[in-house]
Amino acid sequence: GNKSRVQAIYEITNRKVKPFKTPKKLEEMWATDVFTLAKMQESLPKSVFKSLKKTIQTGEPLDVSIADVVATAMRDWAISKNALYYAHVFYPLTNSTAEKHDSFVSVQGDGSVISEFSGKVLVKGEPDGSSFPNGGIRSTFEARGYTAWDVTSPAYVMETDNGVTLCIPTVFVSWTGEALDKKTPLLRSNSAVNKSARRVLELLGHTDIAPVSSSCGAEQEYFLVDSHFAHYRPDLLLAGRTLLGKPPAKGQEFDDHYFGAIPERVQIFMQDVEECLYRLGIPAKTRHNEVAPGQFEIAPFFESANVATDHQQLTMTILRQMAKKHGFTCLLHEKPFAGINGSGKHVNWSVGNRTQGNLLDPGDTPHANAQFLVFCGAVIRGVHKYGTLLRAVVATASNDHRLGANEAPPAIISIYLGTQLEDVFEQIRKGEITGSQLAQVMNIGVDTLPEIPKDPGDRNRTSPFAFTGNRFEFRAVGSNQSVAGPLVAMNTILADSLNWIADKLEEELKQGTELNTAIQKILKEIMEKHGNVIFGGNGYSEEWHKMAVEERGLANLPTTADALPVLKQKHIEELFDRMGVLSPKELESRFEVYAEQYLLSLEVEAKLVANMAKTIVYPTAMKYLSQLMNTLSSLKDIGLEGDLSIVKHISTLTNEMMVQVQKLQDAISVHDFESTEAKLQYFAKTVRALMDEVRKYADALEAEIADELWPLPTYQEMLFIK
Ligand code: ADP
Ligand code: MG
Repeated sequence: GNKSRVQAIYEITNRKVKPFKTPKKLEEMWATDVFTLAKMQESLPKSVFKSLKKTIQTGEPLDVSIADVVATAMRDWAISKNALYYAHVFYPLTNSTAEKHDSFVSVQGDGSVISEFSGKVLVKGEPDGSSFPNGGIRSTFEARGYTAWDVTSPAYVMETDNGVTLCIPTVFVSWTGEALDKKTPLLRSNSAVNKSARRVLELLGHTDIAPVSSSCGAEQEYFLVDSHFAHYRPDLLLAGRTLLGKPPAKGQEFDDHYFGAIPERVQIFMQDVEECLYRLGIPAKTRHNEVAPGQFEIAPFFESANVATDHQQLTMTILRQMAKKHGFTCLLHEKPFAGINGSGKHVNWSVGNRTQGNLLDPGDTPHANAQFLVFCGAVIRGVHKYGTLLRAVVATASNDHRLGANEAPPAIISIYLGTQLEDVFEQIRKGEITGSQLAQVMNIGVDTLPEIPKDPGDRNRTSPFAFTGNRFEFRAVGSNQSVAGPLVAMNTILADSLNWIADKLEEELKQGTELNTAIQKILKEIMEKHGNVIFGGNGYSEEWHKMAVEERGLANLPTTADALPVLKQKHIEELFDRMGVLSPKELESRFEVYAEQYLLSLEVEAKLVANMAKTIVYPTAMKYLSQLMNTLSSLKDIGLEGDLSIVKHISTLTNEMMVQVQKLQDAISVHDFESTEAKLQYFAKTVRALMDEVRKYADALEAEIADELWPLPTYQEMLFIK
């Protein structure tokens, strides 16, 4: 019965709140758990440090001749932080983080024990890779891959279930050199951006050009639910979302929650999270309530894309771990509660370098503005040409609940530029460049400063891909996802467009065209071919959905089943191959792995829905029915006629639910499919629809059955009791 539910409410309302701690000074916490460059400099011989620093800046593999010295210094530092173990941390194709822990202990020939950590094990590790999805890249008989330290991401210590562990961020590749992880393609995509951006910058007349790389700042949304409740919800525990549950009477219409006061208990939790992040050198910056009750957000200062990605993974880990310590369950799922706002991860992205600065920043001179327009034009071309790829990299079973649900961007990829910038590009398209504002923007030597907006001001929240002053913000990314995939896609399409621009510019300049004229010509061509992707209106509206597809020729791919097969298209394969980011084999393996994950998570959910309906909802309904029947028959005994309509109603709902449960169970036992694509479609359409059917009846029963019998914590309770 609902004893457990009542008990949970009792425990929660009577809990002792952890007291506020006076926050420590930032300088006392900052990066204390990271083996930073400064710490390396302190502990390493000068020549070794110099060589290591060079390696870090170029991203090349560590020089083996210095690896032993670096390893020893790293170990000594880690042991001074009480570490007993070390782990190569890597990022498999699931959205999780994986690590293999080893002890520093090494048994000597004479049986004595010393702590050992050689350069060899720092540089290379061999996890049992066979347990990680690889999409058929390695068959199990050649199961091993290896991990290798990514020197551009610093090592750190972290308290885990094992105790304190030295964690070393690594890439994970097969012995034949194929990327089995998310980090390797990210590093490759970054160097593709570097090469192509350098070409363009040279053509624009720069001579001093530092390495160009991408940056990322990811805003993470999440829900907190009291663990007492979560423990009584098998769906939350196993699927990360509620598969059943009637939306509360008091819902999201109470928008005052947004930016409202953060509840005290949550604030104390956030404080602990932030301390932990600061110690790991993660620059957490903003925190606030989100739209839904129980929903919050954390965002860091942006960092280089590779480090930001590692830090984002760590942030998710720490949110989950710290939540447990505070009696919460942290839900990173994109849609934990039906009918309540979901969670996303806005990925803010820009490219730049030390010498030219942020290349997506409009700048203060006409020259800088022309350069900005070139890079911005490259993004426009890329997003139009490869919009379906951007859709594919955010395609997961859980994110499908969010995209297109009028709270998150639609599944149609378009760009928002802001009115002024859109106007500039429209003028370019029309060739209206003389005497206008645009002439000032483009031509060097004009006195009046151009008016490219620093901040578009009017933030359009309905666009999946928005220019926000000096960066683009990709808003279709799911809260539970690694940011690596989206960053790889953005970097790769940008690199491709920059190469295309560089080719064109070279050609024009060779023919003697003046630089500005050449730029204008190329941007005009981009706008003519790709300007259709720019849209400043309401992305949620019906009209846009119609117009995007019918007039603009943009794709609307509502489900993962529609979006993932994009990865198998020829022009996508060629793009990744040409840019040196993913080989055709690596790309295909990604399609296989992601498709597998989609099917697996839907299968787990389908089984769970059926199970909960049968073993929780059905017995509860029967119990209530029997109570009602007893009462009715007692009434009859004393000559009164009771009303049978409620009994009939509940009985009908229960029977209907069980019919749908049977259909669902039959549906997931179908096994013959022509192709993976066909199976994806079947799950997206048939299986998901049946899950919704079961839920419909279960939720209707929740509305009828006596509250004191209902065993599952309700939406009302989970979202409002703190
Ligand atoms: P909002 O909620 O208005 O979208 P936030 O301030 O919450 O904005 O988050 C903005 C994110 O964008 C932060 O992580 C911030 O560091 C990041 N950001 C700012 N400038 C850049 C840039 N040039 N490149 C990448 N990310 C950036
Ligand atoms: Mg944002």
